[in-house]
Order: sequence, then C-alpha cells, then structure tokens
Amino acid sequence: SKRIVIKIGTSSLMYANGEINLAGIDELAFVLSDLRNQDKEVILVSSGAVGVGMNHLNLTTRPTTIPKQQAVAAVGQAALMNIYNQRFATYGKQTAQLLLTRDIVEYPTSRENVINTLEQLLTMGIIPIINENDTVAVDELDHQTKFGDNDQLSAIVAELIHADLLIMLSDIDGFYSNNPLSDPNATLYPHISKITETLLSQATGKGSAYGTGGMTSKLKAATRVLKSHSAMVLANGQQPKIIFDILAGKEIGTLFK
Ligand code: ADP
Repeated sequence: SKRIVIKIGTSSLMYANGEINLAGIDELAFVLSDLRNQDKEVILVSSGAVGVGMNHLNLTTRPTTIPKQQAVAAVGQAALMNIYNQRFATYGKQTAQLLLTRDIVEYPTSRENVINTLEQLLTMGIIPIINENDTVAVDELDHQTKFGDNDQLSAIVAELIHADLLIMLSDIDGFYSNNPLSDPNATLYPHISKITETLLSQATGKGSAYGTGGMTSKLKAATRVLKSHSAMVLANGQQPKIIFDILAGKEIGTLFK
C-alpha cells in the first residue's frame, strides 16, 4: 500500500493514570516519519484532545457538560499538536492540522476543499494530522450517541483520498467474538469480508475511560471501507511499530477486506 490513513485512539495516547504516553507518541512519530522516507503517503487521524486537555488543566475527571468538554478539547488540541510537532520535527518531518466535521461528505465544495488540501500536503511531504472539530461538532464528545466520530472520520478521509489502507489502532488486538474484557473465551477474527448482523451483535461499547466509540463505531467505519473496496486493519496501538508489521503483510489484528 502506498497511501495509508492511521487512526489512533485516546487509549493509545494516554496512560490510565491520566498522564500522556510520550513513548507511544514518539514511536508513532518515528514510524510515520520513516514511512514517509519509504515514499508512503501517510495521514494521521488522532483523538486525544480531551485527554491531553484534562492533563494540562489538572482535571482528574472528565467534565460533565459538553461546553466544558469543548473548552478542554480546545486547550488539549493545541497542546497535543505541540507534542506531535516536536516529535515529528525530531525525525525531520513537518505536520499540519486539519479540524474537520462529518459534513464534509454532505457539502461537495467542502469535500473538494478538503481533498485539495490533503493532496497538496501529501505532495509537499507534510504529514496531515486530523481531528474532529469539537467546537462546531460534538459527535465525538457526546457519549450518549456513542458515535466515536474519529472512527467514521478516518473512514471518510480514507475514502476521499482513495487510501489503500486504513489502520485503526485501539487498545485491543482486534475484533473478537465478544468483548474480551467481559468474556475470556472470546476469539479473535483474523479476517472479515462482510459486516453481518451477528458481528454487529458481538460489538459492545468502549473499553477504557477514555475510549469513545467502542467496537460498534469501528464496525461502522469498516462498513464504509468495505463499501469503497478498500481495506482496514484493526490492531493494538500499544506499540505503533506494529504498523511496520501490518504493512509487511503479517497477519496482525483483524483485516477487513
Ligand atoms: P479507542 O479509544 O481505541 O477508540 P474504544 O474504547 O472505543 O477504543 O473501543 C475498544 C474497546 O471495545 C475494547 O477495549 C473492548 O473493550 C471493546 N469491545 C467491545 N466489543 C468488542 C469486541 N467484540 N471485540 C473487541 N473489543 C470489543
């Protein structure tokens, strides 16, 4: 694959104790920078704004109101980009920030603008870092909807730029027959070619305090990817170097294709 979209969840960017996983972020920057050196085009869709914002503002519990979460996300987004910029600079790469909403699919002019920006950044060798614009859309903040919008957003982006592969990094090794947190006998699906009702019924909510979408949202993203005849790998983001193995064709996580 030449064009790769990587989506990373908050659980891979933050430790459970509320601190920032600097080693993980650094490894991610290293891997993506090296892929650029291998002439691959990479786009990062990163969650984590609220988590990093809470860390910066010394909050131990997630704000309960959406406006407070939006404020924390606005602080955290800038702080997170600071860390990314710094780490990517270490490996000689520049990044760019794109804050998008789902409605880029509904408005053709917006969609064109997003495509043009991304294509240009890729041509310039810059690594685009995308997040939902939490100020104007709260799909990812609103846990009631359990929408996990960055999961959808990453699939939409992959479709827009005709990515060869979407790599979704989560806090779990792949898609299982049941949530492994509650069912130790759950087994991993190495390959899924169609999202069935059975699979949907095997997906439940988020795993960590930071998680947003849960597996349902990842299956929804996979549905979109399969529809556009592309591929998605769901794998554990604990060690971002796993991306090298995925691209080397090793059987890792769950391949949706
Ligand atoms: P992220 O923050 O990476 O987006 P989420 O917390 O939203 O991750 O989703 C991952 C979690 O989904 C896992 O930790 C797991 O507890 C839960 N989960 C529910 N059903 C399944 C399943 N069938 N297979 C794997 N994980 C599942």
